Amino acid sequence: MLLREIKNIYHSELDAIYGKEEVNSFFYLLIEHYFDLERFVLAIQPDLVIDKKQETIIFQALSELKLEKPIQHIIGIAYFMDLEFKVNEDVLIPRPETEELVRWILDDFKDTAKNLTILDMGTGSGCIPISLYKNLTDAKVFGLDISADALKVAEENNRLLGASVKFFQADMLSLMSETSTKELEQKFDVIISNPPYVRELEKADMRNNVIDHEPSLALFVPDEDPLKFYNTVVNFAAEHLNENGCLYLEINQYLGKETKQLLEKSNFKTIELRKDMFGYDRMIKGIRK
Ligand code: GLN
Repeated sequence: MLLREIKNIYHSELDAIYGKEEVNSFFYLLIEHYFDLERFVLAIQPDLVIDKKQETIIFQALSELKLEKPIQHIIGIAYFMDLEFKVNEDVLIPRPETEELVRWILDDFKDTAKNLTILDMGTGSGCIPISLYKNLTDAKVFGLDISADALKVAEENNRLLGASVKFFQADMLSLMSETSTKELEQKFDVIISNPPYVRELEKADMRNNVIDHEPSLALFVPDEDPLKFYNTVVNFAAEHLNENGCLYLEINQYLGKETKQLLEKSNFKTIELRKDMFGYDRMIKGIRK
């Protein structure tokens, strides 16, 4: 079958769900991933034919897209900080906003600091600590998560990307009473977290591919206690950061003021709220007094 005919079928079947632009980007991503064909291939070879085996693959992906399965789950990969991370239903798909948080940390430390001790709380796929490990010199990086299944994905990414992040299982909400985890006996220079922060009331604004396919455990918080993870992370960081150590958090865009107040009430100075590329309050940094 002609590749351009398949592209037309993609548009006729999927544009109503995703819009033309996104369908274009899915199609090109898939032909690059599966067949190693570049984006401009149709401009050069408008009559390119793909074989039966390739047809099966591209139509299988089409039927999964119709069911609103995330493209990253179809190919099993998400790109983050120019690295390829394995992802599945047990972990949140890395988001571009989170790259901005990682870039903030790298801008603060890349050329100046060595041997930083770093902890990521609620690590999921491990995208935050692994990309920090790979971009910083001699950093000692730790990542914790409550989910054993998420940690399996993080460990696999660690191995595939040649990083040495130390992952361990722990429940963020009971860390203050945790005495048996040896990784938590030390102090850190940097603590980061992108914990669950979407309120149930915000579910209506979310897309089906997120709600149906990504882990609720990593996304949602109760409407009446939306900062429950931030309370514990901020308390923990106040105790476990070195003096002048930095806390970086990804936050709910509607709760910037409230999250900032949490840091102000605790042991933090020079608190900075930043917007993401979409103009929403999305991340916050505080320095421990
Ligand atoms: N930013 C993510 C979303 O909009 C949520 C991430 C999180 O809850 N930590 O789906």
